[in-house]
Amino acid sequence: MRGRFAPSPTGEIHLGNAWTALLAWLQVRSAGGVMVLRMEDLDPARSRPVYADRLLADMKWLGLDWDEGPDVGGPCAPYSQQARRHLYQAALEQLTAAGLVYPCTCTRAELAASAPHAGEHERIYPGTCRGRQPAAAGKGARQPSLRLAVPPGATAFTDLLAGVVSQDISRAAGDFVIRRSDGVHAYQLAVVVDDAAMGITHVLRGYDLLNSTPRQLLLYRLLGRPAPVFTHVPLLVAPDGHRLSKRQQDLAIAALRAQGVRAEAIIGYLAYKAGLLDRPEPVRAAELITGFSVNKLRTAPVV
Ligand code: GLU
Ligand code: ZN
Repeated sequence: MRGRFAPSPTGEIHLGNAWTALLAWLQVRSAGGVMVLRMEDLDPARSRPVYADRLLADMKWLGLDWDEGPDVGGPCAPYSQQARRHLYQAALEQLTAAGLVYPCTCTRAELAASAPHAGEHERIYPGTCRGRQPAAAGKGARQPSLRLAVPPGATAFTDLLAGVVSQDISRAAGDFVIRRSDGVHAYQLAVVVDDAAMGITHVLRGYDLLNSTPRQLLLYRLLGRPAPVFTHVPLLVAPDGHRLSKRQQDLAIAALRAQGVRAEAIIGYLAYKAGLLDRPEPVRAAELITGFSVNKLRTAPVV
């Protein structure tokens, strides 16, 4: 088993990040597998090296270690997406050569007027630019985004916690962006290229990404790479039902630590919330390895 943490260094790590990191770590450690840490710092506008440094420190403090990645080295280091852009570009070229990629010059305003909503932040692309040739955008023209021409039909998989999930991507997302108009490769493409290159067999992450998984499975298929087994765990939510976010600074691991909260207290609290302990008693992460199974986890959002 090879699993990974794939945090984005865009803010302080908070209780919600520690939650998924702990569960991913337990899945791998309980199987005697290899843990990979990859910095998802693809978006230069949002990522900060200082957050990456703090993230590593917080993880170590919580007792969540890794075998490959920053500070360790290994066969696919460096594990910073910034340093791996040539790999995403190669995958993009493979898809382009297969006739599956087209340029899109629709503006945000045009999409807002024509594209139906697919969720809070996403819209279903109506296919306006489909059929355009990759070279069609001339020099001097606005740099287009690049989209994948999604074939119709359902993409299904069995999630270890959520069960059978089936989605018709052409209806749920439409032809999605694989390289943004600013030249940054999209998360959907980068995550697939990286997990494939790093030989990841098991992905455990938050339920908010369940909806992205069919798109990623389609990319695995089109790129001819084997896909990992997925487990999407419930999100930690505030009492008002909203997911914990980086805006809740008081729940940052660094803030809790500064208040004198011990790592064992945080781990014990999270383990209790996950259904792994009967009471929120202090415990080291390593003490939870024996007997861990994703089947023991709750499936409802955790307040
Ligand atoms: N970097 C993503 C995030 O922090 C996670 C990506 C993944 O686990 O697939 O939300
Ligand atoms: Zn378009």
